[in-house]
Amino acid sequence: MQLEMQYTQSKDNFFKQKLDELKFYILFEIEVPDKEHLQDAQDELRSMQETLNQFENPAGFAFINTNPNSVHPVELTSVLDESNKNKSIIYLSGKNSTKEKLQDDIKICIDAGFENISFVSGDGTSEAERTPFVESVNALSLANQLECHSGAVVNPFKYTTNDIFPQYHKLIKKFNNKANFITTQFGWDMKKLQELRIYLNHRDLHSPIITRQRFLSVNDVKNITNGKVPGVHISQDFHNLLNKELQYSNSQFLASQWRRLQINTAGCKLLGFSGIQISGLKSAKDFKAAYKLINNAFTEFSKFEKWKKVYFEHIAHYEMGPYPHLFYIYNNLLSDIHITRPTINEPELDKVTLKDKLLFKACDFLFSNPKSKISNNYLLKSLLLGCKTCDVCSSNKMAFVCRKSCPKQLANGPCGGSKANGDCELSDKECIHSKIMRIALWLNRVDILEEYVID
Ligand code: SF4
Repeated sequence: MQLEMQYTQSKDNFFKQKLDELKFYILFEIEVPDKEHLQDAQDELRSMQETLNQFENPAGFAFINTNPNSVHPVELTSVLDESNKNKSIIYLSGKNSTKEKLQDDIKICIDAGFENISFVSGDGTSEAERTPFVESVNALSLANQLECHSGAVVNPFKYTTNDIFPQYHKLIKKFNNKANFITTQFGWDMKKLQELRIYLNHRDLHSPIITRQRFLSVNDVKNITNGKVPGVHISQDFHNLLNKELQYSNSQFLASQWRRLQINTAGCKLLGFSGIQISGLKSAKDFKAAYKLINNAFTEFSKFEKWKKVYFEHIAHYEMGPYPHLFYIYNNLLSDIHITRPTINEPELDKVTLKDKLLFKACDFLFSNPKSKISNNYLLKSLLLGCKTCDVCSSNKMAFVCRKSCPKQLANGPCGGSKANGDCELSDKECIHSKIMRIALWLNRVDILEEYVID
């Protein structure tokens, strides 16, 4: 009965209201625990809530689910006051889910009083161990039907041409599918964040973007360096800087992370982002310290020129991209707060090979009409496409690349997890969406990357 209710967005969605009023929003990220740690996590959440209630500037929680054994987010959040639910976001992952299950999850969140729901595809496990994923683009369609205030994620910290453009094409698809707000993956390179702002301005897209900032721990540095955090890279220069910070003492390392959080948050505000989502903080005490330091930073860095000087002194004379992959779409990034006419770096895209062209032509001739008899000849398809017999073949909308050649079977664009060189998160092959983009460019059909939503 509960799952058959009709939903409409309430007028007192605090988060939406503050974004609409262009108020800078601070979200504190909380990982949803497993059953065993639920009680402790709820106790901590109660004190976090008391702290949050004392903040004058708009702030809320972002509940995120990275542990496959975690409880449903609404179990953790049952201790929240009603008023704090619409200050917060729940992130739902499409990993190991189905559309029906995800729809039920959305309804459970709405019934529990949450209206701000964002979608991530989820991390992969291994190429061999394939789990079903509901793509965030499709999850947005489900959320639209239920009229919730929905969001999605983008990873702007991509440093090859084959990697960054498919991210942005997919982002446009998310906007076309009515994403109300976007959160970025975390990273420390402010040039990449300004690149995102400029790209969206050029596309005349002005929806709220929240940047995710990570308060780094020593363990994080190890995990990221060992490639255990998909889609997040620390350049060699930045790694050396972090090692230098560590060399003196743990407290010196922590002080440097607080300062980095201050500088990057102030930079995000000056560059026109709508807010930040801070991950890596563990307690109400940390939240309080972060809130105070961030507000001090807003006072300290009211002018872009001053901020830029300190940012470059503190971080950016180091190379932030994962060498040798250092592609930025625009030149002169961070030269000004609003680069009105940035010059564009000519992208050096891998060429479509003769073999790929011939294969595309053959498939286009044989399979472009999905209802034709030959189009359902799986032997032929498996010979030409390496067909893995999907229930519904989408290859004619994907430049005749089979979605099952992606370990997550993502049809609408790449996940954020690719390696620094643009290869797939889960194998040493090229991400299928780079290949699709190259073929689309050769055909002069970039529209297929942004407009087709594949179920
Ligand atoms: S092929 Fe691309 S989208 Fe698929 S898992 Fe690999 S990196 Fe992600």
